[in-house]
Amino acid sequence: MNTSTTPNSGVPAAPCVPRTSDHMALAPLAISQVEITGGFWGRWQDRNRSVTMPHSMKWLERDGALDNLRRLFATDGAPARRGMRFSDSDLYKALEGIAWDLGRQPSSELEAILDEAVQVLEKAQLDDGYLNSWVQAGEAERFADLPHGHEMYCAGHLIQAGVAHARTTGRPELLAVARRLADNLVREFGDRRRVDVDGHPEIETALVELYRHTGERSYLDLATQFIDVRGYGVIGKGDFGSAYFQDEVPVREQDTVVGHSVRALYLLAGFLDVYLETGETVLLEAAERQWSSMVAEKTYLTGAVGSRFEGEAFGDPFELPPDLIYGETCAGIASVMATWRLLLATGEGKYADLIERTLHNLFAASTNTAGDGFFYVNPVQRRQPWAPAPEDTKPLRSDAPGTRPAWFDCACCPPNIMRTVASLSTYLATADAAGVQLHLYAPTAMTVPMNQGTVRLTVETEYPTDGVVTVRVQEAPEQPWTLSLRIPAWARGATLEVAGEHHEAIPDALGYVRVERTWTVGDVVRLELPMPVRLTVAHPAVDAVRGSVAIERGPVTYCLESHDQADGVDLDHVELVSGGALRVVPSDDLLGGTLAIEADGLVRDDSGWAGHAGWATLGEEPTAPARKVTLTAIPYYLWANRGPSAMRVWVPLTTS
Ligand SMILES: [Zn+2]
Repeated sequence: MNTSTTPNSGVPAAPCVPRTSDHMALAPLAISQVEITGGFWGRWQDRNRSVTMPHSMKWLERDGALDNLRRLFATDGAPARRGMRFSDSDLYKALEGIAWDLGRQPSSELEAILDEAVQVLEKAQLDDGYLNSWVQAGEAERFADLPHGHEMYCAGHLIQAGVAHARTTGRPELLAVARRLADNLVREFGDRRRVDVDGHPEIETALVELYRHTGERSYLDLATQFIDVRGYGVIGKGDFGSAYFQDEVPVREQDTVVGHSVRALYLLAGFLDVYLETGETVLLEAAERQWSSMVAEKTYLTGAVGSRFEGEAFGDPFELPPDLIYGETCAGIASVMATWRLLLATGEGKYADLIERTLHNLFAASTNTAGDGFFYVNPVQRRQPWAPAPEDTKPLRSDAPGTRPAWFDCACCPPNIMRTVASLSTYLATADAAGVQLHLYAPTAMTVPMNQGTVRLTVETEYPTDGVVTVRVQEAPEQPWTLSLRIPAWARGATLEVAGEHHEAIPDALGYVRVERTWTVGDVVRLELPMPVRLTVAHPAVDAVRGSVAIERGPVTYCLESHDQADGVDLDHVELVSGGALRVVPSDDLLGGTLAIEADGLVRDDSGWAGHAGWATLGEEPTAPARKVTLTAIPYYLWANRGPSAMRVWVPLTTS
């Protein structure tokens, strides 16, 4: 067994661990090095383990994801294969989530789930390493339907699960299954024996990680090959054209993100992984161009991406309707994955800004407060309360019910949430030769081995409820080192105290304040990021919300939900008064305790339009008297937890 598969081998147990430091500005830390000790994300990690994981395993059993594999070696009475052709990947993502969670805390129950699944996979795997329940069930020939078959997509998720399991527990079995499948792919496709690629990227990032973990170069070479051959129409046009598959323009020449949003962003993560190993700057430059275009023109305020239901795709620039948004949860997760790699490559805080925005809004909204219901589609406006999710059954993915369903026919999102929550601590901080960087703020205890010696820190904060972050030095080498703290793009008037002394808190060009000194045990750093309520506007080309504002506080985007408004307030007719009051209202009894925001608003009477066409000559439109109301906003991520509702993030701003 490769020694790097042991948890104490020095390879951090994290999802993305570049093998060389030559092309990364910042080095990731392991789950075991950064412990979330409470707060918003700590509670969620606890809920992920106690509720979401058993809930998901129950559904994976019920829907056949495990039986689809068991039947491959069953000697009698095997049930027919059920579910999506890529149901294996749902199981693999869940196993990856469990593996990362075992890195946080041991659990004999979770280990038993993994052990049983590994035994199933070992038995289902063919002698030559091939493993896919859809093909082995006889539904298709091996690698015969690369555009739609998802064989390599499933393989990629198996590889990621195997690497996670090995990194957190030192156990080699799942990694061995994954490696046999990867070797099968290398034999089939490597050295350009076959110039083709899976329609759904994912294998690229997984193969690079497998190379990182094993040192086997053929995995990196195959990942690079898959990136090289894409973009020349090799996949075919399918129902939506080559752009849907990111197969219209080679990634090195591509300036923006196109097509199916999850595919585009897994691919972005994959070719950034290749860059992090090879240092091919053309790849980094292409990634920076695509990311910049995405953030400037194709990302919602919540961090959601992919506005079109058709093709689950990115739209044109500024095509960001709030009510018709697709905004798949997996696309938001893929955005975080790709953006994290850009942060590691460059050290630029703008990447942490997007990760924070996406996690606290789109991602946080993806799960209900109980931890057993999930959004696939994440609207930022719902005009009318839609029917609630059916009890104990699963809707199609394209359904966007009024509440979060327990599961989906296409169940990619819930296990993706599982693995992201379980590995969340690896996104909070990094290290480099100079010191430690804090990117996202949560209560944590971290241990960072540096050349100068071990640094141990604790972070205390109520973030995002307030913006006070207190860092205590628990252990420090005798040589000086630098503590870097990110100043979010939204923050104004940040203050910093170091060991009782006031320090300048103006961020540098990368977005961080940096304190270099010889630290001693007991030193305290206090960063305060003021969090007044602020109003946010969209780029004027986003026609759908032009003239509107969104309420935000700190990293949290707010929404108006019908449950919280006075009787008779129709959210289709509300306006926010420019210059009006915006009051923070601590609400301990609301949705488990939150900060609501009250705003001066108007409700505009549209009764004059009754019986009228939906348009009128300018100057002749029906008069629309308005009455004053107090509008109540809640954090966007909490909407749809009290039954179906209307909701909106963007609200027209009025001066009258
Ligand atoms: Zn999904």
